[in-house]
Amino acid sequence: MEKLNKEHKPHCLILPYPLQGHINPMLQFSKRLAHKGIRTTLVTTKYLYKVLQESLGSIPVETISDGYDNGGVVEAGSTEAYIEKFREVGPKTLTELIEKLNNSSDTAVDCIIYDPFFPWDLDVSKKFGLVGAAFLTQSCAVDLIFYYVYKGEIKLPITENEIKVLGLPVLESSDMPSFIYDYGSYATAFEVVLNQFQNVEKADWALVNTFNKLEQEVIDWMENFWRVKAIGPTIPSIYLDQRLLNDKEYGFSILKPDTDACKKWLDERQNRSVIYVSFGSLVRLEVKQMEELAKGLIMSNKCFLWVVRESEESKLPENFADETSKKGLIVSWCPQLEVLAHDSVGCFITHCGWNSTLEALSLGVPMVAMPCWSDQSTNSKFVSDIWKTGIRTRADDKGIARDTEIMRCVELVMDGDEGKEIRSNAIKWKEMAREAVDKGGSSDRNIEEFVSALVNPIN
Ligand code: UDP
Repeated sequence: MEKLNKEHKPHCLILPYPLQGHINPMLQFSKRLAHKGIRTTLVTTKYLYKVLQESLGSIPVETISDGYDNGGVVEAGSTEAYIEKFREVGPKTLTELIEKLNNSSDTAVDCIIYDPFFPWDLDVSKKFGLVGAAFLTQSCAVDLIFYYVYKGEIKLPITENEIKVLGLPVLESSDMPSFIYDYGSYATAFEVVLNQFQNVEKADWALVNTFNKLEQEVIDWMENFWRVKAIGPTIPSIYLDQRLLNDKEYGFSILKPDTDACKKWLDERQNRSVIYVSFGSLVRLEVKQMEELAKGLIMSNKCFLWVVRESEESKLPENFADETSKKGLIVSWCPQLEVLAHDSVGCFITHCGWNSTLEALSLGVPMVAMPCWSDQSTNSKFVSDIWKTGIRTRADDKGIARDTEIMRCVELVMDGDEGKEIRSNAIKWKEMAREAVDKGGSSDRNIEEFVSALVNPIN
């Protein structure tokens, strides 16, 4: 076979679902593979490619079609329509792409690292006899819960208050991913997260963005059914180790970050004095919640950097930005890793998306968890009760975390005696995250094993 000649560098295609929280970790993983001598190409949709072109830099990119080349999910009009069309057009255009790349021995494809939100990627890879590696972008705990639901081992609706899942601590209903209870309202999203497990057993690898010490028990359990390897956190080494100054480029942002303004503002603040607030790329807060948060920030009397996406801006109390300009900076998007790594940041009010959780944990920033939907409650449970690097806000009977509660939590993690353990755990986990990705650490060894299997395939 031509592609196994000595000159051929193994070539992996990386196929994230076109959402920020999926692109970031998969792109970082691809960079890590590239550092270890693997050729990697990011595959995105034609529409996203147009949006992101400016920020792509030197990242090699190819495109496939989701059927909506001029507007993606917005053009589709609904997630249902988008997913259905992608399922129809995606495999065909991915097949054409692989055929094109296989025409040259340089670019011939060896492996597909795919997002199991699209299980059909694996079918395409098997058709070509390629290595297929699923890259799961949520925590292992969440993956395991969805896997059991998919298999019918957790039966819906759940009626018990305490849920005992093999491999996980006892969970209460409020710790479970929201889709488990809301599946009527989020039918498409729920189907997508469950279908991830349609064929993971057939994948050659299941790569997970976590590290062994963080989720040891659940990883051990998953090894019973998949060839699972923890390869995270997928955060560029510069952020984990300030001595390394070689790779600042994090990837591409669907939204444009206000990098200079954030950096300048943070540079002028004292160590550990700033509350960083962000709810990621998808969460939409209720107007009442936004109000309470705004009041809570004022009551805390601390400086804050708050990411309010343009689509959320109208929910801010009137004149809030002007009235708080001495204490606060509001931006529509920020370079989150740079912010979390900045010495001025002392706490992160977060929705606990998996990337944000892992980023804060790896950079030693204590969290105030305000989960909103999806997997965020489960992540919050681990943050507050298992890793103990933060606290979860308590909501009132309408599901709103009130101003005084937000202030209480912020004070606890930033100043209070009660929060000492949280702050020292945050430092401990930062060290452990770094150890995992350092040369010879558990995630580094797992990546080496993956790379070595690509370089020396058995047949
Ligand atoms: N992020 C960012 N700038 C922001 C807010 C978020 O770069 O102002 C990044 C963040 O670092 C993370 C991703 O966007 O990598 C959000 O992913 P997460 O899983 O936390 O949440 P999601 O957006 O999927 O809900």
